[in-house]
Amino acid sequence: MLYGGVSGADPTAGGAAKHDTDVTHVNGRTNVRQMGETKQMSVVDYLVLGDEPHLEANACTSCGALFFDRRNACAKCGKQSFEKRALSNSGIVRSYTIIHRAAPNVAVPYVSSVIELDGGGVVKGNLLEAGSDPEKIELGMKVKMTTFGCGVDEEGTEAVAFGFVPA
Ligand SMILES: [Zn+2]
Repeated sequence: MLYGGVSGADPTAGGAAKHDTDVTHVNGRTNVRQMGETKQMSVVDYLVLGDEPHLEANACTSCGALFFDRRNACAKCGKQSFEKRALSNSGIVRSYTIIHRAAPNVAVPYVSSVIELDGGGVVKGNLLEAGSDPEKIELGMKVKMTTFGCGVDEEGTEAVAFGFVPA
């Protein structure tokens, strides 16, 4: 009786979803897309793929504070109402660090940066194609977001990450 009407929730039916993974909804959003034979999935929830990939934040409807993770309440004003907001793909370098040591399968050096997006939003991401010479990376330099594949799982789904390149 408790389970009346909950069709599809039976764990013994597991595997059904495995054959229907062209589109997966994460928090109500489409996070996977089919590109020819290649499926893609963003490595973070707040990277939205599609024809125009972009970052998406939860914006406090009261004070406008932006959060990438899901919040029960706004850390700035305490209100509890949020809406999705698409962020700009362009911004400036606010801060960066050149990383020389990493896990064995990660190429070094690379540049980890903090990007202040035009119109609001601050996000961490690697600064690509700018080299790793601190003489050539300027605070305040204009950048734009880019996406790139960073691995394919056994089912052929490509993981997609984002970074920033000089604009
Ligand atoms: Zn707020």
